[in-house]
Amino acid sequence: MPRPIAATIHTAALHHNLERVRQAAPDAKVWAVVKANAYGHGIERAYEGLRGADGFALLDLAEAERVRHLGWRGPILLLEGVFEPRDLELCSRLGLWHAVHCDEQIDMLAAHKTQVPHRVFLKMNSGMNRLGFTPQRFRAAWARLNALPQVDEISFMTHFSDADGPRGVAHQLAVFNTAAQDLPGERTLSNSAATLRHAADARVRADWVRAGIALYGSAPDYPEHTATHWGMRPTMTLATRLIATQQLQAGDTVGYGSRFTAEGPLLIGVAACGYADGYPRHCDTGTPVLVNGIRTRLVGRVSMDMITVDLTPLQQAGVAAGFGAEVTLWGQASNGTVLGVDEVAAAAGTVSWELLTALAQRVPVSVD
Ligand code: PLP
Repeated sequence: MPRPIAATIHTAALHHNLERVRQAAPDAKVWAVVKANAYGHGIERAYEGLRGADGFALLDLAEAERVRHLGWRGPILLLEGVFEPRDLELCSRLGLWHAVHCDEQIDMLAAHKTQVPHRVFLKMNSGMNRLGFTPQRFRAAWARLNALPQVDEISFMTHFSDADGPRGVAHQLAVFNTAAQDLPGERTLSNSAATLRHAADARVRADWVRAGIALYGSAPDYPEHTATHWGMRPTMTLATRLIATQQLQAGDTVGYGSRFTAEGPLLIGVAACGYADGYPRHCDTGTPVLVNGIRTRLVGRVSMDMITVDLTPLQQAGVAAGFGAEVTLWGQASNGTVLGVDEVAAAAGTVSWELLTALAQRVPVSVD
């Protein structure tokens, strides 16, 4: 028998979350962001739930080929554009749209011999200071692209740095609009946080939103809001089983470093899940976990292959929990109880994006 840990991808939840994004940004087209192997879900596994999107946004040609291989004939956007000249040939062959964020990418296009003109998204650095032309250089970059026979359509993009927080999007929106104001073409500005929090403003949702984490059932602005607040459902459940129990007495310690000490008699369970499965080692005593759908807490350190959990809440509820009991690390338990991946991420001092994308290869994944 394999170890009992497994992840399940929920197709209906992906579909539901996509509809929620559409409600938040009515009349906008939706890029489903499927980079990093669809945020750890697997592009092929997530596709069925997300195929109602208007396009797929991703990072590299291999991912784009996989989406085409699934039969997708609609738009695909390379969010960082091409990395070397020969990528442009594959862009032509696969019919990809690509971001252009630097002079070197315009040089590559200018030198590219193609029969198939390219559709590009000229990217502005409106304040994030990662990729894109500064507002001062934006129009010159546009004029250069506009003069190229290799380019037949130019759209515009930028990326918000604080859509999830108090700074919001107003400043970057103003910078973008001032520099790009009268340039003709479609726009794509908003990630999940901007879409959920700021899309009442038509300029924020125009013309495409780029939704990632919200599609995957997580709140982009946790802990200010939860996924439930935004009406999102978990799209990945990571679950395992208890493989042992231990009855502790006062003074007994648990796990490496003996970081947890029992104050009195305490029944704990040992679950087959550790940091080598992608469960964060930074989780420690207190991190929420569900056993047979009842909420309890981790005790002691996360090991490579095991965690230890407090079974007191199950005893109090009169629910038996021994060898083989269901343990839900995040997602939805069999009894319907949900444990948000956001909560677990916060307990580890990180974000849900990291947990979802860090699911380990050795964890078997199925789709329901
Ligand atoms: N657009 C770009 C350029 C991104 O880099 C990302 C993700 O990092 C997204 C959209 C999607 O962001 P989120 O997952 O917050 O919706």
